[in-house]
Amino acid sequence: MSGGVNGVTLPPELQAARLLLAKERPYLASASWALQPVPKPGLGTLAVDMYWRIYYDPDILARWPVEVIEGVLYHEICHLLRNHAERMKDFHPRLSNIAVDAEINDDLVREGVKFPTPPLTPELIGQPENLLAEEYYAALERLEQQPSAGETQDQGHTLSASPDENKTGKSFQAKDGFPNSQDGDSKNSQSIQGGDGNGSDSLPSPGSGQCGSCATGQIAPWEDGPPSKESSAGLSQTEGELIRRDVAKQIREHANGQGSLPGHLVRWAEEKLNPKVDWRKKLAAVIRYAVADTNGATDYSYRRPSRRHSQVGKGDVIFPSMRCPLPSVAVVADTSASISENMLAQTLAEISGIFKSLGHREGIHVLAVDRTVQFCRLVFRPEQIQLTGGGGTDMRAGLDAAARLQPLPQLVIVITDGHTPWPEHPPKGMKVIVVLSGDGPVPNWANVIHSKSGDGS
Ligand SMILES: [Zn+2]
Repeated sequence: MSGGVNGVTLPPELQAARLLLAKERPYLASASWALQPVPKPGLGTLAVDMYWRIYYDPDILARWPVEVIEGVLYHEICHLLRNHAERMKDFHPRLSNIAVDAEINDDLVREGVKFPTPPLTPELIGQPENLLAEEYYAALERLEQQPSAGETQDQGHTLSASPDENKTGKSFQAKDGFPNSQDGDSKNSQSIQGGDGNGSDSLPSPGSGQCGSCATGQIAPWEDGPPSKESSAGLSQTEGELIRRDVAKQIREHANGQGSLPGHLVRWAEEKLNPKVDWRKKLAAVIRYAVADTNGATDYSYRRPSRRHSQVGKGDVIFPSMRCPLPSVAVVADTSASISENMLAQTLAEISGIFKSLGHREGIHVLAVDRTVQFCRLVFRPEQIQLTGGGGTDMRAGLDAAARLQPLPQLVIVITDGHTPWPEHPPKGMKVIVVLSGDGPVPNWANVIHSKSGDGS
């Protein structure tokens, strides 16, 4: 990816900003280099979509100092890393964008990051720092539902001017900062795409409440839509998830090696690499239990782990002692057509978690299965996995194939939405755990973990 993506040679200003960002924050380099440049003359600014495309107006680049372009890149990458598109996709895009900007910008302002326009901060919406976007969103919704004197509320509950005008008397560019303020009811992407796209109100304003679908998960009028042969190149959810994991690892290495790092990035990386969502803990516990069980009388939990390796705060130590040979594990991943890109990305994250559970010491057989087995390989890193598929669903094919592996896996973890036929009887010699993301039926001989409730991104 040497600047030639989409047949576009990166303009020198953007290249310089990217180099500066990589120099000051080397752990963000892979995210920064993954951005796919798309020139948009007349856009008046920079914007990033949920497919890791960066739209830029060549004219504006020449007018902004390189530190400002760098600041915008950093800000937008934070949206992508924090997976705001996925987290906010069901919410109102205008309020979402304000909420996610508030979540990011208190951190970046503390770091002295430069913005093209005054950044939208928690203070500006009358909220404390360090909350999650979801919390800011709830506060904004409450604010919007409050009847406020002297406001033109011609279209239901529209936050028709900046909330801080009510609260603090400050203003942060109410017009540019509040996209779609004319179509206050546009809860879905259709109405936004179908919007008139008129005038400056619909132009992006990075860091000031209008950043593109990287922030909201909903496609803005100036964006190219999902990547296809006809459109500009973009990244899939799965590719995005791999970059997130890579950046998280880089951050951890950087923190271990040299120390100095913004706290929010360290916290994000640890959460990414050690998800604390309950059902994952449950899965880990079930794996541990199954492993102990398949190893006969050995109960690992009574083995005294080395103190050095079991410090509190080193993340979830799933196997208290890792000294014993681990049983062989296979993962059957449902890759049928009913599984969305996002669910595949989630599957990949779960397999990474399973690697972690097993202490990264053993390979895992991974089988990507729709109606038949599409991919079957002993892998040692998530990057080796190809989640190919897209046809009908039959997890029986996956379990059959797992039963023929050498050596026979003692534990098979099936990740599926459950819309599949199952074998009538449990496979011989293998324990089966089903990680269920949907509402399909699961046989009573399998141990089921419901993953739907926690996204953990
Ligand atoms: Zn933003």
